[in-house]
Amino acid sequence: MSEKRLYCPKCEGNNIVPEAGFITGYKYRCRDCGYVGVLVYQDE
Ligand SMILES: [Zn+2]
Repeated sequence: MSEKRLYCPKCEGNNIVPEAGFITGYKYRCRDCGYVGVLVYQDE
């Protein structure tokens, strides 16, 4: 079993954590550079 990996579009780090949004659904936050947004790279 492999987990879905997320990559930050800003620093390309993979230290991404999901945050539940209110209206737009899920957002993601990068713990490395502080990026927050809905756009992340996914490698399934
Ligand atoms: Zn980042």
